[in-house]
Amino acid sequence: MRFPAFLASAAVLALSPSLGLSSMVWAQTPDPLPKTINVKTNIYYFQGEQALAEALKRTPNTGRAKNIILFIGDGMGINSVTAGRIFAGQQRGLDGASYELSFDKLPYSGFSKTYSTDRLVTDSANGISAITTGVKTINGAIGVDGTVVGPRCRGSLKARVPTLAEEAKLAGLSAGVVTTAGITDATPAGAYGHTPYRGWRADSDMTAEAIENGCIDLARQLVEAPAAIRMDVALGGDLTKFVPDNDPRKGNRADGRDLTAEWLKQTPTATYVTGAKDLAAIDPTKTDHLLGLFADGDLPSPVDTAEHYDVPTLDEMTAKAIDVLAKNPKGYFLLVESASIDKWHHQNNAYHALTDVDELSKAVQVAMDKTDAADTLIIVTADHSHGLVLTGGSTREEPIMGLARNHGKDSLDGNGQPYTTLSYATGPGGPKGGPGRSAPTEEEATSPGYTQPALVYTDSAQHAGEDVPVYAGGPQAHLLSGTIESSFIYQVMAHALGFK
Ligand SMILES: [Zn+2]
Repeated sequence: MRFPAFLASAAVLALSPSLGLSSMVWAQTPDPLPKTINVKTNIYYFQGEQALAEALKRTPNTGRAKNIILFIGDGMGINSVTAGRIFAGQQRGLDGASYELSFDKLPYSGFSKTYSTDRLVTDSANGISAITTGVKTINGAIGVDGTVVGPRCRGSLKARVPTLAEEAKLAGLSAGVVTTAGITDATPAGAYGHTPYRGWRADSDMTAEAIENGCIDLARQLVEAPAAIRMDVALGGDLTKFVPDNDPRKGNRADGRDLTAEWLKQTPTATYVTGAKDLAAIDPTKTDHLLGLFADGDLPSPVDTAEHYDVPTLDEMTAKAIDVLAKNPKGYFLLVESASIDKWHHQNNAYHALTDVDELSKAVQVAMDKTDAADTLIIVTADHSHGLVLTGGSTREEPIMGLARNHGKDSLDGNGQPYTTLSYATGPGGPKGGPGRSAPTEEEATSPGYTQPALVYTDSAQHAGEDVPVYAGGPQAHLLSGTIESSFIYQVMAHALGFK
C-alpha cells in the first residue's frame, strides 16, 4: 500500500517533545494514521486525485467574451439541482447520487442572493431583471428600477433601465431569447421588457390607466422595439398574446394587430414558425430574424409529449438560436430559460419539475458543444428557489420519486406510516382542512402525475428564498464565485463583453 508523503512527516512530528502527551501516545504507534483503503482502487479517492489534478491546471480566463449564453432554471434552487441530478441519473439506469448534470462540470460556482427591493422572497420578474439590468426592483416588475409601485404606469417610464441584451444589440452584437414558457412571461421578458407589472402581456391584460399613461404590453415591446435594440431570435410560447381576438387562432389582442405578420415585415430574411418540424427545417444561413411561437401559452412538458409531438425541446430551440445568432462576427447574447421547473414545483409535481432540470442540462450541453469556452461565457443560475426538500431514509438505489425505502423496505415516520423522499414546504399537496396526511403507495409516489406532500396547503406552492447556485465557465467566469447579489451577475456579463 502506498502512503501519501504528508503521512511520513507525521512520524517526525510525533517525536517532537513540545507536542505533549497525546503525541507521545502517537509516537508508540509505528503508523499513526493507518490507511484502511486502497488508494489505487477506492473510487472516491481515485476520482478525487484526478479532480485535484484538473483543478490545479485551471487558470482563470481573464479575456473578453465574444458571446454570452445565460441559462435560467426558473425556480431551480440547489435542492432542485441535487434532486434533478439524482432523477436524471436514475432515468438513465445509472447511480443518481454520483451522476453529473452538464453544468455540474462548469469550473466556477457561487451563490446568488435573490431578494427584491420589497420582498424577502422574489418572483421571476425581479429575479431575472436584477440579472439582466444590474438593478433590483420590486416583485412583479421588469426592466425598471425599484421606484415603481406595482401595476401603475404613471411614473414607471422614467424608471426604465436598459437590459444587457439591448446594450449588446447597440454594441453591434446579436441577441436572442428562448424559453419553454410563453415568450412574454417574466423571465424571457427580462431580455427585452420594461414594465412595472409583469401581467401586462397583451393589450387586453392592461388597465385603462396603463394605456392612458403610455405603457405598452410585452408582446408589443418584443416586436416593436427599435431595430437597434430588438431581439433577433425569440422562441417560446404565447401565440395568443400576438394575434387578434377575432383571429381563427383565438388570440387575446383587442387592438386587432397581428404581431406575427408585423415581425415578418421587419427584415428581408424574417421567419416565423409554429412547430418543431418547421423550426428544424430553418436554414440558419438564410434567417436573421426568427420568431417561433409553439403553443398558445406555455410549452407542454416533454413528459406529456405524446400529445404534443410538434413542440420543440429546449435543446432544439437553443441549438437553432445559437446557429442563427453565431453568424454575427461581433458575437451575441442569448437568454435561455427552462421555465417549467418553476411551473411544476408550483403544482408540487416533482416528476415534471425534475424532468425540466434534465432538459436544462441537455440544453446547456448543446451550448457547450456548439461554442468555444475560450470566447463564450456560459452562466447557469436561477431567479429564485422553491420549497422542495430531499429527505433522508432511502438507500442509494431507491428511486428518488418513490417512498423513502431501505433496500426495498419502507422507512416509516413516527406514526408508523411510509413517507416520500421528496416533499414541499407549501402547495396543493398540503393537508386541505388542517394537519394530517394520507400515506401514499410506492406505485402512486413514482407515477409522473403524483403530487408530492406539502407541509402547508396552498393552491400553488410559494417560491423559496434561500440563495441559488450560479455555475459559470468561459471568459470572466471566475468572477462568479463566493456569495454575490443577483444584480452582480449583470456586472460580470457587462465587464466580460467589454462594456464597463
Ligand atoms: Zn414561480
